[in-house]
Amino acid sequence: MSHLAVTDPEIARLVVAEEQLQADTLRLIPSENYVSHAVLEATGTVLQNKYSEGYPGKRYYEGQQNIDQVETLAIERAKTLFAMDHANVQPYSGSPANLAVYLAFLQPGDTVMGMALPMGGHLTHGWGVSATGSWFRGVQYGVEQATGRTDLDKVRDLALAERPKLIFCGGTAVPRTIDFAGFAEIAREVGAVLVADVAHIAGLIAGGAHPSPAGHADVVSTTTHKTLRGPRGAMLLSTAEHAKAIDRAVFPGLQGGPHNHTTAAIAVALKEAAGEDFRVYARQVVTNARTLGEELAARGFDLVSGGTDNHLLLIDLTGKDVPGKVAAKALDRAGIVVNYNTVPYDTRKPFDPSGIRIGTPALTSRGIPASAMATVAEWIDLVVTAARTGDEAAITKVRADVKALMDAYPAPGLSVR
Ligand SMILES: *Cc1c(COP(=O)(O)O)cnc(C)c1O
Repeated sequence: MSHLAVTDPEIARLVVAEEQLQADTLRLIPSENYVSHAVLEATGTVLQNKYSEGYPGKRYYEGQQNIDQVETLAIERAKTLFAMDHANVQPYSGSPANLAVYLAFLQPGDTVMGMALPMGGHLTHGWGVSATGSWFRGVQYGVEQATGRTDLDKVRDLALAERPKLIFCGGTAVPRTIDFAGFAEIAREVGAVLVADVAHIAGLIAGGAHPSPAGHADVVSTTTHKTLRGPRGAMLLSTAEHAKAIDRAVFPGLQGGPHNHTTAAIAVALKEAAGEDFRVYARQVVTNARTLGEELAARGFDLVSGGTDNHLLLIDLTGKDVPGKVAAKALDRAGIVVNYNTVPYDTRKPFDPSGIRIGTPALTSRGIPASAMATVAEWIDLVVTAARTGDEAAITKVRADVKALMDAYPAPGLSVR
């Protein structure tokens, strides 16, 4: 970054500081990861200088000799990896990708069904504060209080009563396997388009560690930067039937020119995700999460749904007598980065909820094995207890131990350690 350091030393300094922070901390936010050097290099290329509104072979600007090939490679790799007929790799991120889906299938005021945000769903699945909940009529399903799992019979009853045109399955704080076949049956019954939003689990699906929505969902929406370990971006995949509607909705419906440097980096990430190493990675993410869940449960932590099938754990801290935000901030001081999160049926406010959400994608990218999960659970337990008792010395001690483990497992893509 010699040029950046000369042109803008303030920004250069902050980038280096962020790199050091990512090297030194145990990053447990389940939507985050470390991309490879190759993905980073693709992101920082001159492809970003080029405008290419349209699609390969049908552009509104000349000079697409290389860009068309880049986008075609990304499209073909996406179709193959996720076994879907069609792929659009242009959405700027997960939220605009979902908005494009509304544009493709709904008129303002039409009904959309998704999982409620406080139950683990995403804002863009028709939740009130999002445009998707104010321009469309959102009806929401949740999870059962006793099991922490979605009861598909209740989803069916709601769908039959409300007749949504669009149904979203998937979410941001769902620790259990999504039953794509079950949702598809309900969507067929009510004549709705089924969208599987696999933003969180796309890498697990690509690596064979979560069932695939292919053959069940009409549309698959995903970010590329979570478990898939690519650049910040998104993709919409679909059956052949809906290909035109999806493409028209993304461009010209919602967006202008695609971010070609991101498209290139998506292509690279998809190539990586098709490899045998990535299958090993995806399975290890799940093994690590399951092991961490068991170790936390053994220390008296209350896990929503009792554990996990995937990469994430949702922890209700009510029984530990520490609010989620207090715990998250104490963990941050200990070099363990999580986010505070509502738990289903939370009695506290969304900005000061009862839980924290943690996940294993980033630590698994560093090669940290399942055998280290007991230590990680022990640190979380120590820090949550210290947050309650105000024992800052205990928190400082954990921070040093965290740093030692991070030094032993350098993260991919970083030039510091
Ligand atoms: C992260 C996420 C999104 C949104 O992605 P952004 O890139 O943050 O806009 C959409 N849906 C789900 C389920 C997500 O987890």
